Amino acid sequence: MKRLDPRGPLVFDTRALGPGSARAEERTVPAPAGLRVELVSVPEGADLQLSVQLEGVSEGTLVTATARAPLTGECARCLDPFTSATEVRLQELFAYEAGSGEADGYLLDGDLLDLEPALRDALVLELPISPLCSGDCPGLCVQCGVRLADAGAGHGHATDGAEQPGKPTPGGIPVPELRKEC
Ligand SMILES: [Zn+2]
Ligand SMILES: [Zn+2]
Repeated sequence: MKRLDPRGPLVFDTRALGPGSARAEERTVPAPAGLRVELVSVPEGADLQLSVQLEGVSEGTLVTATARAPLTGECARCLDPFTSATEVRLQELFAYEAGSGEADGYLLDGDLLDLEPALRDALVLELPISPLCSGDCPGLCVQCGVRLADAGAGHGHATDGAEQPGKPTPGGIPVPELRKEC
């Protein structure tokens, strides 16, 4: 295992944390690269706000952390870019030594621990697979592809009855019926 850099933005020093003692730390760090799923990501270098609680336990250090991260993405319905934010909470034990049967657990490196892999796993799991620019985004017209949010509720194609409200868009999400009852 390569030695951790104690000045790393996501490296925490557990020295002086005996069993039963705890310490809280607030940090704002630049987001590491690669926090993304298909349509949404945490921009590299953006501010990640961390509230971290380090707690000495007999097996090592228990870390409880909350991370707030900005998101940029593309709406799964209307394909417009949007920004939002997410918050994740994680709790992981960083052990002095690998326990039997817990090969994928996190380990302390001397007095140091690297929160990045745990934070990365927690954040990526939290990223939405089908992000929306707003909860009620009406998506695109299945006939002409216009953004229905821009076109207004009156948008429609009064042609030969070929219009099929509820037909799935290319994104697989049914378009809600927009025409009003008279
Ligand atoms: Zn949208
Ligand atoms: Zn249309």
